[in-house]
Amino acid sequence: MATIAEQLAQVRARIDKACGRADRAPGCVALMAVSKTFGAQAVLAAAQAGQRSFGENYLQEAVDKMAAVQTLAPALAGQLVWHCIGPIQSNKTRLVAEHFSWAHTIDRLKIAQRLSDQRPQDMLPLNVCIQVNVDGGANKSGVPPEQALELARAVAQLPRLVLRGVMAIPEPAPDFAAQLAVHQRVRAVFDAIAASGPQGLEHFDTLSLGMTGDLEAAIAAGSTLVRVGSGIFGARPPQAAAT
Ligand SMILES: *Cc1c(COP(=O)(O)O)cnc(C)c1O
Repeated sequence: MATIAEQLAQVRARIDKACGRADRAPGCVALMAVSKTFGAQAVLAAAQAGQRSFGENYLQEAVDKMAAVQTLAPALAGQLVWHCIGPIQSNKTRLVAEHFSWAHTIDRLKIAQRLSDQRPQDMLPLNVCIQVNVDGGANKSGVPPEQALELARAVAQLPRLVLRGVMAIPEPAPDFAAQLAVHQRVRAVFDAIAASGPQGLEHFDTLSLGMTGDLEAAIAAGSTLVRVGSGIFGARPPQAAAT
């Protein structure tokens, strides 16, 4: 079986190749390692292979894992950047505000407001993305595309948040062309918000799009940050595979 370091190298090679095909500079697409359901040792193995950004869906699991990594490897732990990519309920906003650098799943102003209010003063502002439900799929999270601009404008005003971009989890599509089509719709939402700037959008630079199965199409559509789980860490137990 391939090690985490080997799988990471393969994913990085896929990203570079996709950048080449899309005429995009190598290095313009960042990689987030989605470590949900995998333990602190898996995070450390990836970190030792150079990975710094990690994504988590389940908040209590994530916070426990961060503490375990801190205990096992304090110096390395300080260099890691944690992204919340799971749904955020009102009663969990404090965990996100106090432990993460990024939250990708903002789809209601109320949640954004709570995150801003609860972000500790001794931490940098929380980076956030607006989650867009681009295909109305079974994954009901995300704001409809036509409401994304209004939400983005409101979120951009919040003092302890930095609006960084747009995120989506499109339904699986059968082939590259179908994946590309749906990813391009997310890209169009990103472009529409960017064009409404510059006020409050000084740091709006992130299109969080693409997973193990569709990262090539996401990169062709302009993704700047792919979120890869199983491609790095292996298959997850089926009940935990969905968000
Ligand atoms: C689980 C998850 C991923 C990673 O999915 P893989 O198919 O394992 O790469 C990416 N983004 C989100 C929001 C997820 O929940």
